[in-house]
Formats: sequence, C-alpha cells, structure tokens
Amino acid sequence: MTVNDKLQTQDRLLKHEIIQGSVCKLCDDSAESRNHLFFECKLSNAVWNGIMEWLKFKWRSCDWSTLLNWYCFRLKGKGFKQKTKRMALAAAVYNIWRERNNRIFQLKCKTPDAIIKDIKMDIFVAILNGSPSAEDREWILSL
Ligand SMILES: [Zn+2]
Repeated sequence: MTVNDKLQTQDRLLKHEIIQGSVCKLCDDSAESRNHLFFECKLSNAVWNGIMEWLKFKWRSCDWSTLLNWYCFRLKGKGFKQKTKRMALAAAVYNIWRERNNRIFQLKCKTPDAIIKDIKMDIFVAILNGSPSAEDREWILSL
C-alpha cells in the first residue's frame, strides 16, 4: 500500500474532502503526504538514520523514488545484509505508520529513540527467528 501510495494519508483524504487540515502529526510542521511522512519528515529522518547507523549501513534518508529504485533494483540480492536492509525498510515504514496512527487515534506519542528501539527489536526477532548463519548471528548480536 505504501509503495502504491494507497495509504490514507491526509493529503489523499483532503483531496476527497474528507478532512480539512493536513498537518503531519509526526512533526506538526508540514503537510502530510506519503513522501513527507516516510522520508522527508524530520522524525522519520531521525528514525531511519538511527536504524541505518545501528546496522552500520551508509544508506541515509532520501526521497521516495530513490528509495524505491534501491529497493527494486539494488536490494534484490539474497545476501544477509541485503535481506536485513529490506527488513529494516519494511520495519521502519510499518513503525512510522503505526506511530502516526497512534498519535492521531490514541493521542500517544513516542520519541524517535523509542521508535528506533521498537524497530531494532522487530529486526532482531525476525533475524534470530530466521536461523541465521553463525557469522550473521554474531554480526547482529555485536551491534
Ligand atoms: Zn512530518
């Protein structure tokens, strides 16, 4: 849904005249759209860069089309690190979307650090449940 821009972000709802304001709930500073929400927003940026730093990847926050290009063409490999990068992207998108919904519907607010912690846990659990090789296991545990 995120890739195809089908999430009901406020800009889409606004287009259909369902709601009137469209301020991003993650930063209260910009209009909400998919592109803003996931990568342009300063909160998403902090989360994404925090995860990349943790994984010791050089990849940093960028625009949506660059990212999709990466996801579709550069991350195709079956290597462990590429799998981890894909996992990190999916976990980041999921957790940012969940945070946005929690702020809107439950008035609950997490710090970027707390969101990063949740994402790390998601990645950790997914990797350790996927029977990693001894070397890959050692790498993830060393982070
Ligand atoms: Zn924002």
